[in-house]
Amino acid sequence: MPYLSLNPTTGECLQAFDNHIASDVPYILEKVAHAQASWSRCSIEERAAIIRRAADQLSTHRERYAGLITLEMGKLLREALDEVDKCAALLRWFADRAPSILTEESVGGDGNVIAYMPVGVVLGIMPWNYPFSQVFRYAGAALVAGNGCVLKHAANVPQCAFAIEALWRDAGLPEHLFRVLLIEPEEVPQVIASPHIHAIALTGSEAAGRSVAAVAGAYLKKTVLELGGSDPFIVLADANLDDVLAQAVTARFTNCGQSCLSAKRFIVVPSIADQFVDGLADRIKQLKMGDPLQQQTTLAPMARAVLRDKLHEQVMTTLAQGGRSRVGCHIEPGEGLYYQASLIDAVPAGSPAYADELFGPVAAVIRAADENDAMRIANDNRFGLGGSIWTSDIGRGKQLARRIHAGYVSVNRPCRSDPQLPLGGVKASGYGREMGEAGLKEFVTIQVLRS
Ligand code: NDP
Repeated sequence: MPYLSLNPTTGECLQAFDNHIASDVPYILEKVAHAQASWSRCSIEERAAIIRRAADQLSTHRERYAGLITLEMGKLLREALDEVDKCAALLRWFADRAPSILTEESVGGDGNVIAYMPVGVVLGIMPWNYPFSQVFRYAGAALVAGNGCVLKHAANVPQCAFAIEALWRDAGLPEHLFRVLLIEPEEVPQVIASPHIHAIALTGSEAAGRSVAAVAGAYLKKTVLELGGSDPFIVLADANLDDVLAQAVTARFTNCGQSCLSAKRFIVVPSIADQFVDGLADRIKQLKMGDPLQQQTTLAPMARAVLRDKLHEQVMTTLAQGGRSRVGCHIEPGEGLYYQASLIDAVPAGSPAYADELFGPVAAVIRAADENDAMRIANDNRFGLGGSIWTSDIGRGKQLARRIHAGYVSVNRPCRSDPQLPLGGVKASGYGREMGEAGLKEFVTIQVLRS
């Protein structure tokens, strides 16, 4: 199958790319490994200077990259601009902080040194929902630490993949140090098995994570897995509803709901439940579906037809099991992969909207019996990426936050990625961290030197 670049807004085929033929793959991996060997001998300051130049490229050409993101996967142009800006900020953070974070440490004053050495070449298996930032999160950390990168990007964003490869080249990264591989998921095990691959970073579905981790385990290669979530958004009785409702819409509908850190399950206590649901319904109805390039549009198309169908099936099953449709809950007819901004109330335990990840513009409200029940429901899920608690009592909110089994919990603000904060999950959301000091140290191996 060729990699197809399709415009989700119109259905138009923008470009098709032939896959790499199987016999080319070992040759490419060898080239990357060769480039990495020289790169690992550069000083970290030299490497950081190139990472900084890549950040400058992103800033200089932000409109071009954002336009490409919107064209290929359909997000609102202003969200694509935000994504490009966040990539630039993240690379600058890596460039500024890596020299101190990855510097050698003396331990015990007895000639003992701990050094952070590159692992080698890191295979990135990346998704389409943030087709730039997901790549830079792993590649920025891996490259500054002295590694090489091979990218297997999602099948629907090949133009973004090649734009990123060109960007690194233009920033002065040595030839072959960052290479795109156009291959099918079925070919990934052969790449993992290659002696030139030393670690794997994957962002995507739970199924892809399990499959890749199993193969990597067989070859004893490290994996970092970011597998999405079904984040609870817990509204307590004393929450400031006006603020909460505005934040709820942003937290659920940004990127057309196709974000691992989106709020997905709105868990509400009885005293504010009706008011919350009515207010959320009113706000959702105001979202304006349309061309993502237009400023007035607030709801973009979804990125892939197959995932829109899957979402609709999850919605229909939830309704059949007793959930109440309050807004939308239909595929929008016509061209473009639009799904109506939707709200399901009284989502029952065990239904897809309760137990699984709904990756699209659908808010699911779960009515809890009381605060304790809300906390129980928040953890009654196999995912554990993020979560938020909304209350006027910040102290109480912080106490409750510690009871949520997730990698990132916020009080009175939505979860939002930040270069200095490590992002990652527990349970079926995966393991390992992206960004922050922990993210920088994912692709190094610790070496003890004694003299
Ligand atoms: P996938 O997990 O299928 O795709 C993510 C990446 O993994 C793509 O590059 C894909 O390649 C690759 N991949 C898929 N299966 C394998 C495999 N067995 N071995 C190696 N690589 C593999 O996500 P989808 O796009 O299909 O989305 C499905 C669901 O996953 C969504 O509905 C959502 O729930 C979740 N998801 C979560 C994301 C997150 O941010 N955490 C991002 C994207 C999806 P290819 O494109 O060629 O199939």
